Amino acid sequence: MRTTVGIVGAGPAGLLLARLLRLAGIDCVVLECRDRAYVERRQRAGVLEQGTTDVLRAAGAGERLDREGLRHDGIELRFGRRRHRIGFPDLTGGRRVTVYAQTEVCKDLIALAETDGPPVLFEAEVLAVEDADTDAPRVRFRRDGREEVLECAYVAGCDGFHGVSRAAVPAAVSRVFGRAYSYAWLGVLADVPPSHDELVYARHDRGFALLSMRSPSVSRLYLQVPEGTGPEEWTDEEIWDELARRLETADGWTLERGPVTQKSVTPMRSYVHEPMRYGRLFLAGDAAHIVPPAGAKGLNLAVGDVVVLARALEHERRTGSAELLDAYSATCLRRVWQAERFSHDLTTLLHRAPGATAFDDRLQLARLDRIATSRSAAADLAEGYTGLPLA
Ligand SMILES: Cc1cc2nc3c(=O)[nH]c(=O)nc-3n(C[C@H](O)[C@H](O)[C@H](O)COP(=O)(O)OP(=O)(O)OC[C@H]3O[C@@H](n4cnc5c(N)ncnc54)[C@H](O)[C@@H]3O)c2cc1C
Repeated sequence: MRTTVGIVGAGPAGLLLARLLRLAGIDCVVLECRDRAYVERRQRAGVLEQGTTDVLRAAGAGERLDREGLRHDGIELRFGRRRHRIGFPDLTGGRRVTVYAQTEVCKDLIALAETDGPPVLFEAEVLAVEDADTDAPRVRFRRDGREEVLECAYVAGCDGFHGVSRAAVPAAVSRVFGRAYSYAWLGVLADVPPSHDELVYARHDRGFALLSMRSPSVSRLYLQVPEGTGPEEWTDEEIWDELARRLETADGWTLERGPVTQKSVTPMRSYVHEPMRYGRLFLAGDAAHIVPPAGAKGLNLAVGDVVVLARALEHERRTGSAELLDAYSATCLRRVWQAERFSHDLTTLLHRAPGATAFDDRLQLARLDRIATSRSAAADLAEGYTGLPLA
């Protein structure tokens, strides 16, 4: 099998890249190890930056997003049983975010690929990317128990943090930066209308809590738990009780409870692999970088990467010049490191690290108080949250 761009992984990065290349008239094939139902059901991101929604709309994937996505003009910070709202448009020159689940973004992009192409091969497990430093890279994969090869001009490694593409970069070339956190997120999906109409980020002496949503009738809620906690260690009732404690305010706000339909634990990690390009292999999204989820940046960064990559491939095809492809890694990394900084700052602002001292607590509260009382501090948060403009 032969194509121009072999795309490894049908997460948001791989699917959107496939769509952008299709619109640019560039052949590609997507190889995805999981089945379609799994990809369409995997609960993860839900907050889309303005730049992300603009790109999806321009790619023809905006119809349901515009109908069903929930536009949010701010978030609420809670600390010391007080609430403080950060309104985005006023602080950012009109920017906002949209709550629309990653599952729905993937469904929309898969539906477009189904009608318009390119081919998305599910249950096609990539075993290795080979000869990435030559003019003829190859993707070796297994489908229906048989090994096959996809011959390409370029390979896009969009296979997430646990994928195989990154391993094609020799150790002597790779530089890895990262840190792990000593806490994780216990997340639940619940069939109950959200108890607040915007996301609520709560800093509490017992740990962080987040009230979020997937739709007007489905809530998504998270609790900070120690690293290594299993989801079965918490009963639904214990989760609701703890959420109520951490989200409590002095003004009588109440948390609505409902049936929990999914429960999972997400570890926290910051990670960047440099460079994001090796020969004709281009890493994009979680394959190249991970952010802790508090900043809601992961999916948005994946979108940023593939926009840069699609433009560079199109430029090369149109002009014969590889200058944008050569600049791919540096262009993406500038944005990636800003998102790493923002996500790390927001994480350490809101989570209580094990072993935190009374001094650490006071500093955290002072930082939150500064955001609540200074327009420039609030604007910095709002700009980071709504996202840097795409390159
Ligand atoms: C609990 C949680 C909450 C999050 N919340 C947010 C949020 O609010 N906002 C936000 O922006 N981000 C959020 N994120 C991060 C976001 O989900 C990821 O950054 C995003 O999924 C990255 O997309 P991707 O396409 O790069 O990788 P992935 O979504 O991981 O997709 C990679 C794909 O590659 C496939 N694959 C892997 N290995 C192979 C192989 N060998 N062969 C073929 N296919 C392979 C995988 O099955 C997968 O489909 C969250 C993440 C988690 C876990």
